[in-house]
Amino acid sequence: MQTPVITRFAPSPTGALHLGNVRTALFNWLYARRHGGRFLLRIEDTDRERSLEAQVTALMAELRWLGLEWDAGPDREDAAGPYRQSARASRYAAAFARLEAADRAYPCYCTALELELARRTQLAAGRPPRYAGSCATLTPAVRAARAAEGRPATLRFRVTPGEVLLYDDLVRGPQRFASEDLGDFVIRRADGSAAFLFSNAVDDTAMAVSHVLRGEDHVANTPRQRLIALALGAEPPRYGHLPLLVGPGGAPLSKRDGSAAVAELREAGYLPEAVLNLLGRLGHSYAEEGWLGREALIAGFTLDGLGRAPAHFDRAQLRHWQKEAVHRAPAALLEPWARQHVPPGREAAFVAAVRANLELPADAALWAHIVYGELPCAVGPIGALIAAAGAAFYAAALAAVGAGAGYAALVTALKAASGKGGAALFKPLRAALTQRLDGPELAALLEVMPPSTVVARLEAARALALHPDRSPGSSP
Ligand code: GLU
Ligand code: ZN
Repeated sequence: MQTPVITRFAPSPTGALHLGNVRTALFNWLYARRHGGRFLLRIEDTDRERSLEAQVTALMAELRWLGLEWDAGPDREDAAGPYRQSARASRYAAAFARLEAADRAYPCYCTALELELARRTQLAAGRPPRYAGSCATLTPAVRAARAAEGRPATLRFRVTPGEVLLYDDLVRGPQRFASEDLGDFVIRRADGSAAFLFSNAVDDTAMAVSHVLRGEDHVANTPRQRLIALALGAEPPRYGHLPLLVGPGGAPLSKRDGSAAVAELREAGYLPEAVLNLLGRLGHSYAEEGWLGREALIAGFTLDGLGRAPAHFDRAQLRHWQKEAVHRAPAALLEPWARQHVPPGREAAFVAAVRANLELPADAALWAHIVYGELPCAVGPIGALIAAAGAAFYAAALAAVGAGAGYAALVTALKAASGKGGAALFKPLRAALTQRLDGPELAALLEVMPPSTVVARLEAARALALHPDRSPGSSP
């Protein structure tokens, strides 16, 4: 029988959820969903001082917003839980005891100063620093004596020298380490708490995690974590290390990019599907380059698609996917963007008219102002363009509108009266109505713009054409 796919997202709740973490969560979620497996949420909150309950709540809210729901986690406990490391100390204690009993771990009484001196000596001799093994062979009597003195001790994992450690990284391919290069490493700190790599490995084992996709910054932990799992009699998960997300300059993505926190994107109005289409392609390539819905994101996710090239976060790409997402979004999702900016009850019609020009909620406010608000007198190049069409042009438009003409009839009447067509007709008409050269289809715009506003704008345009010199800001 094939082992079931079980993946997890294991954030340390020490700050806002950033895009790099979300990409990790997404890939693990996609892989589990693709293979009908389970996706777990485990909170790595052993670093008690820096972790805040509010951050756990917030990160769960962000994951839910993105639709990355988990099958088990701190709010959905099951037999493999608890899903907070702060509640798992007894598990770690049991694992320490097992390893100590099997002599796979031993207490180390070296002081920070001793370790530092040893490190400098090794570096000075041109050797990579690693634990010299001073406490590896203390006799039980010496250990008992030191313990009786109350000397603080860490617990070190005993690495068998002379071994070649091999594993296949799901992204980076075959990996090879000499066990000597690892040195005996700390698995329990002097204060009794489990080292990160230990609790992480013990929990993956206890939770039967089959695949771990995580950032490249964890590569060095992996051979050690595999040793821990094996020493505990478990099959280590398969690991894949993803290239870190980098910002525009190639530096690791950080707060400085202003866009690295998921909450910021959500608050700015980005849609979850836009974020997923972007992140799914950072360090992973889909056969399909265009928009992918949630099911397609799952169906097309493969380990073969994972790549080693640096994954560049690019705001322009995010905006591209946001446009696609808005284009496809149900109207009910966009109408709230218009609320408070358009007359009550007009949200649906307004969104239908301007949807192609919406990217973020701020755009809805902008277009609502253009359609329903007061525009100042047109100035500058737009004013000049309006004036150049001539007063008769707007008089004809006013006459047609006054006679109740719809958009098609208005255009016909304008053509007949002015002899203009094409851009010479549409540009000044659009400019007169919106003071812009871009925007929604004029027909759609006229559907939502109140008739009194249409008349007022055409009259302002006619006045401007009659007296271009009176327009504020126009050069004398
Ligand atoms: N708590 C670790 C982190 O946030 C988890 C690493 C892992 O996925 O194994 O980096
Ligand atoms: Zn020692």
